[in-house]
Amino acid sequence: MKTVKSKFKFKGGVHPDYNKELAREKAIEPMPLPAELVISMSQHLGAPAKCIVKPGDYVRRGQIIGERNGFISVCVRASADGLVKAVETRLGASGGKADAVILDTTAPAPEGAVAAESFALDPLDWRSATKEELLKRVEEAGICGMGGAGFPTVVKLSPPPGKRCEYLILNGAECEPYLTADFRVMLERAERMRVGVEIMRKILGGPAVRIAVEANKPEAIAAIEKAFADIDGNVEITVLPVLYPQGSEKHQIYATVGRVVPEPPALPIDVGCVVENVGTVVAIADAVEKGEALLSRVTTVSGDVVTEPKNILAPLGTKYSDLVEFCGGTKEPPVKVLSGGTMMGFAVSSLDIATTKTTSGLLFLSKRRVFQYTSEACINCGRCLRACPMNLNPADISKAVEADDIADAERAHVMTCIECGACSFVCPAHRTITQFCRRAKNSIRARIAAEKAKAAAAAAKGK
Ligand code: SF4
Ligand code: SF4
Repeated sequence: MKTVKSKFKFKGGVHPDYNKELAREKAIEPMPLPAELVISMSQHLGAPAKCIVKPGDYVRRGQIIGERNGFISVCVRASADGLVKAVETRLGASGGKADAVILDTTAPAPEGAVAAESFALDPLDWRSATKEELLKRVEEAGICGMGGAGFPTVVKLSPPPGKRCEYLILNGAECEPYLTADFRVMLERAERMRVGVEIMRKILGGPAVRIAVEANKPEAIAAIEKAFADIDGNVEITVLPVLYPQGSEKHQIYATVGRVVPEPPALPIDVGCVVENVGTVVAIADAVEKGEALLSRVTTVSGDVVTEPKNILAPLGTKYSDLVEFCGGTKEPPVKVLSGGTMMGFAVSSLDIATTKTTSGLLFLSKRRVFQYTSEACINCGRCLRACPMNLNPADISKAVEADDIADAERAHVMTCIECGACSFVCPAHRTITQFCRRAKNSIRARIAAEKAKAAAAAAKGK
């Protein structure tokens, strides 16, 4: 296995303060089981899972409580034993709402309750298992991308007919400020990553493997070099320059193998690539070799007002209030709480929101770290154009959305915006450009969905 420097540099990008020193030395720490879990049916991209339990049911750890509900969907399993107190609509980190199972984990198991063991998955020997058995395991373990987007992994690992995966890329860039969960996974679980790579190579028919890590994580690179030292085949670590948004799927593909993913709806597989977050790779290894479904994840809890920043292994459905309490609370009231990093994270208004399969971090920031500006008119300085890694004209898009001209924003290719926040970061007029882009994209998606529904209704009427 070789370690090489990336030969390809994408256009644009920015250098925010990383502030990773707050949590990077903190080993992954499992937290005690909270008394209440809030397990969302919408922890992934695509259709939310269909809830199949009701208040009064007693469920066991690992039991399916939400069924996969479509091609782009995954199942949801209970992350602990407990009594279903309620099934109700709850707010998620990004502001959307979805059904959630509220679980009382302190309730004793009723007499005659099914044993927890009956919901455990059998360990599989990946060497002798077939590709179909391995894929089925990824599906039944409820695995989706854990880096942020939450794309169902079973779909990613099943290229459509005529498409072949030539490169499997492991995303260990973790370029978002403050976040260190992936860094700790690479440092502490490199052996499990190797098992995950072997399994995925078998499923995907033996692609070359590129493990992409930013140059500011030399300890993680060393741990991977050690764990993968004698692995067979075409496997390389690609050391990426420190540049945000190096962790974006498209930019990582370019930085590692020099291929360009065309505009949506094109996907990485259209250029022969599959990208998976390092945490997802470990989840695949554990689901296959240990029979462990995806029931918990590592989340960084950090920020300048957290008493003791940590990288916490918490059951899915852990409320943000329990996470911060496990860190000793805050030294002063935060002025902003973010789910995710400071570039792409969502400001949250309630600590009753709970972790999902994609919760990489939770930040508590003081006034000293949160700059409050008033957005002003564009001064045409061009900084956002130079920063945009997607080659867009963010200034024009923001002006179009401000004028409520979504069609103009669409003509300016707003749908290719990856919402990285680089434009807002550099804008001297403090324009909320990323939010404008998000607004336009949501509006265009809603229009397309309405058009599809109308066409389907017309087709049904014509039958
Ligand atoms: S948020 Fe969108 S428009 Fe702004 S820099 Fe990123 S990709 Fe470009
Ligand atoms: S950075 Fe801000 S002020 Fe400068 S061109 Fe872009 S939107 Fe206008």
